Amino acid sequence: MSIKNHILGFPRIGFYRELKFAQENYWSGKSTLNDLLLVGKDIRKKNWESQFNHGIDVVSVGDFAWYDHMLNTSMMIGNIPQRHIGNEKVLTIDTLFRVARGVTSTKEVCSASEMTKWFNTNYHYIVPELIKNQKFSFVWKQILEESDEALALGFKIKPVLIGPLTYLWLSKIVGQDFNKLDLLSSLLVVYRDILSEFEKRNISWVQIDEPILALDLPSEWKKAFQVAYTYLHSKQKILLTTYFGDITHNLDFIKLLPIDGLHFDLISGKYNLFDLNQTFNKKILFSLGIINGRNIWKSNVLEWFNILKSFMNLRETFWIGSSCSLLHVPIDLNIEKNLTDLVKGWLSFGLQKCDELSLLTQTLNSKKQSTKKLKNWIQPIISRQSSTVVNNFNVQKRITQISLEATKRKSSYVLRAVQQKNSLDLPILPTTTIGSFPQTSDIRQLRLDYKNHLISKINYEKKIKAHIKNIIIQQEKFGLDVLVHGEPERNDMVEYFSDYLEGFAFTEYGWVQSFGSRCVKPPIIVGDISRITPITVPWSKYAQSLTSKPVKGMLTGPVTILCWSFPREDISKEVIAKQIALALRDEVKDLEEVGIKIIQIDEPALREGLPLRKNDWDNYLRWAVEAFKLSSSGVKDSTQIHTHMCYCKFNDIMPAIAALDVDVITIETSRSEMKLLKFFKMFDYPNEIGPGIYDIHSPTIPSVKCMEERILLALNFITKERLWVNPDCGLKTRTWLETSLSLQNMMQAVQNIRTSFQNK
Ligand code: GLN
Ligand code: ZN
Repeated sequence: MSIKNHILGFPRIGFYRELKFAQENYWSGKSTLNDLLLVGKDIRKKNWESQFNHGIDVVSVGDFAWYDHMLNTSMMIGNIPQRHIGNEKVLTIDTLFRVARGVTSTKEVCSASEMTKWFNTNYHYIVPELIKNQKFSFVWKQILEESDEALALGFKIKPVLIGPLTYLWLSKIVGQDFNKLDLLSSLLVVYRDILSEFEKRNISWVQIDEPILALDLPSEWKKAFQVAYTYLHSKQKILLTTYFGDITHNLDFIKLLPIDGLHFDLISGKYNLFDLNQTFNKKILFSLGIINGRNIWKSNVLEWFNILKSFMNLRETFWIGSSCSLLHVPIDLNIEKNLTDLVKGWLSFGLQKCDELSLLTQTLNSKKQSTKKLKNWIQPIISRQSSTVVNNFNVQKRITQISLEATKRKSSYVLRAVQQKNSLDLPILPTTTIGSFPQTSDIRQLRLDYKNHLISKINYEKKIKAHIKNIIIQQEKFGLDVLVHGEPERNDMVEYFSDYLEGFAFTEYGWVQSFGSRCVKPPIIVGDISRITPITVPWSKYAQSLTSKPVKGMLTGPVTILCWSFPREDISKEVIAKQIALALRDEVKDLEEVGIKIIQIDEPALREGLPLRKNDWDNYLRWAVEAFKLSSSGVKDSTQIHTHMCYCKFNDIMPAIAALDVDVITIETSRSEMKLLKFFKMFDYPNEIGPGIYDIHSPTIPSVKCMEERILLALNFITKERLWVNPDCGLKTRTWLETSLSLQNMMQAVQNIRTSFQNK
């Protein structure tokens, strides 16, 4: 057999999110460490068995993590911040959880390590912290224990490690500055130790992930690759894996690395296989990532068969695999009951992706190479293009008719601002919140009961209205200027909207890990998108009827809905975003029509959608901004458009942020002590800004004094006419007590500053 297959990693959460429940029970003290360990062991065993049963030749080890695979690596090499170690002599699972969750063994709070997006995916990793002269050693041996565990079960294994350069690149320096590459040689010693352990176990291949090879790298880092892989070169065979992008621009140095195998992501990269073959020595094993590890569509295995068949004439042997780890897709399509058979026929989740690889491998390796099974597999996708589930001709027509005016407000901000000031009559430093209020267990239970048909629609609506009424009363009590309805009817800011849009399908168990125990269930965009009925209008209208203060309408923006869903691949992301934008545009107009004067369109995902390489940024930002404006520009000048973004580093996309031309932007800045505002000032951001003045992610109640200081600090960057005051994100994860105390303090701080203005 000349062709073999593998996947780069398997989801670690369990078929029914077993890991999540085990983690949370352990954290809350409801179960013991032993219970947790057993669940982990079961998940790993089931994962290996599943890969094996679905025809995968060599199973991956090291893709399991108690919280995150980057954090695993930090533990493995003994790079744990002192504040999380405390007085403990050895690293334990509790140390690992302290880094991730910011709680010490004596239950005091110490700041968790930062978390950030894993490249351009929705997975978050724990950012390793590096200090000058950091020492590393192989202290946490999970990778060996799990390798032994799999070997004992009789599996043929391939351990997976994050590469040393990707690890350093993604880390952050704390304290005194230095060059991260100064730490490379000490780190490499640890990697060599680990590799020699694999060698002792007669493991033939080790997978080392270096996804940063898809980025634009400084020359110093390119050289470091040569140093690192020359040092690591030994009898232990290394398969170097790259993913999430094309590496052609870095091939000049990659082709010189002394490695044994190289993995290409053929889904996100645009390669010519014949050129690749020529570029590399025949001794280097190719692993071709042909099955998409980031989306859920069935692969056209027949097309791949033809490509691979001719490639077999060039290379006697090679591997085929998933483009990246299957971490980013749900595990098993077969446990889904909600999806129609028609739609199911178009999809492929983790295990089905293994089936696709196995099918291809078997066919390629067989003498007759009969394509019958491949044809059967793709049968359902052949008619997809003409399906009425996919096509909505009205939507397609509307997309072609978008005029330039449709993406522009009628007048400039300066003129709009005058009209808005007259119509809204807000005090100086207007106060507001970001949208959601505490999602109490009452509210969650109510939604669940409604979903399970345990309560009638009329009763459900009556109860939601009662919550809205209470939220309005509370906000009036606090004295806020711009109110919100509080979002009690929403489970998730994307799923809620997609529920009301035609063109989406929903899974029951299609969970994907977001971070730690948190999973998301991205909706699937199966067809052209349109709005079935007004979505938020009745709730906003009701909320507005209860108060004379303006109530802000609250929508999720087109880019965020797109980014947090599984997109179609038969049309461009730009077109999908515009379809969503048109549906939202209708919603915005309807809100305006029922008397809503302020509408917020949240785009927390705008920045994460950025392509990995700078060259591709402009095009993305162009259509992302256009889509946003398409949704927001259909209103009168006097209607005020807000947007909200969280966790954002804006400095490099400031022009795009300004191009959104929103009247007010509220952003997350409290944790960075307003550092972000410097860029708004430098860039001369023209419109109004609400830099969150307290961190809603922490249970600490911010003091009046602290918030006064932050407002004064913000006033150094923004004129008082353009400054808003608000928390830095939605309040849904906080309790009512925390919310009340914090908002009361916030209002007091604003009052004090307003008074000081009058006294001047
Ligand atoms: N309006 C949303 C809320 O308040 C915004 C959430 C977000 O920024 N991710 O919950
Ligand atoms: Zn937010």
